[in-house]
Amino acid sequence: MVDDNSQPVFRFAPSPNGQLHLGHAYSALLNFDMARRAGGQLLLRIEDIDTTRCTPSLEEQMLDELHWLGIEWEDAPRRQSEHFGEYQKALDQLEERDLLYPAFMSRGEIKRYIAENSDPNTLWPKDPDGAPLYPDIDRGRDKPERLGLIASGRPYALRLDMKAALKAIGKRLAFEELGGGPQGEVGKVVCDPSLWGDVILGRKELPTSYHLSVVLDDALQNITHIVRGRDLFYATFVHRLLQELLGLRAPIYHHHDLILSDDGRKLSKSADDTSLRSLRNSGRTPDDIRHMVGLACDE
Ligand code: GLU
Repeated sequence: MVDDNSQPVFRFAPSPNGQLHLGHAYSALLNFDMARRAGGQLLLRIEDIDTTRCTPSLEEQMLDELHWLGIEWEDAPRRQSEHFGEYQKALDQLEERDLLYPAFMSRGEIKRYIAENSDPNTLWPKDPDGAPLYPDIDRGRDKPERLGLIASGRPYALRLDMKAALKAIGKRLAFEELGGGPQGEVGKVVCDPSLWGDVILGRKELPTSYHLSVVLDDALQNITHIVRGRDLFYATFVHRLLQELLGLRAPIYHHHDLILSDDGRKLSKSADDTSLRSLRNSGRTPDDIRHMVGLACDE
């Protein structure tokens, strides 16, 4: 856990793949306020590993909106797309320990496999995001077979062999939660990474994934406090496992409420009515935004 004498370091880590909405504003302002109250730093990280959906113009607009909101951060933002080499090194480490395997089934093939091979009376296990766990199909291939399939040009994802990873760790993992999980989890939370099955850590054409880069960057930026939406609470189980496998320090977590639309749904990056851009264009001020997300204005 975090060294008590260290200066707190917070981060806001948006992906510039659409419009920032009220939910992002809440997360960014909460990080900013908490960092200020704790006498700590706020860093900005641009999570743009998806270089097709994340564009420079969306990033520029995002930075402009954060400035408009009054958010200030230290140092130049860290842009993930500039660090693929670092992520590759971590993948290599895991590969050397035989903890990764190439998985060749597409989403459609997984669906078909499950429909054809599962017992209609038992439900196929799903991960906390609702995706079916990857079937036991590619993990057992030997090296020549894996290399042959890769050489044939088939697309693949690099998946973590979850059972082997948990065995390699050989202990129960936990983290400190200051906000709350979906079931009200708070304080010391024990992790069950196996809920996610063999998670994807990289792809044929991309040497990383959300889980891998977020964990490495939080460590590289010496983040001590991660304040983010409750929708990422269970992802922390995978993050703790990766921290342990890669010898990285665990930060403290604070998962916050999600801002919902009037009809109770999660906000989306494509819905215009709650985007910061349209709220700003319609004459709302940064203080109005603070009120809308339930945060007090300048103390
Ligand atoms: N980039 C993620 C998002 O925009 C946030 C990642 C995190 O805070 O861990 O949803």
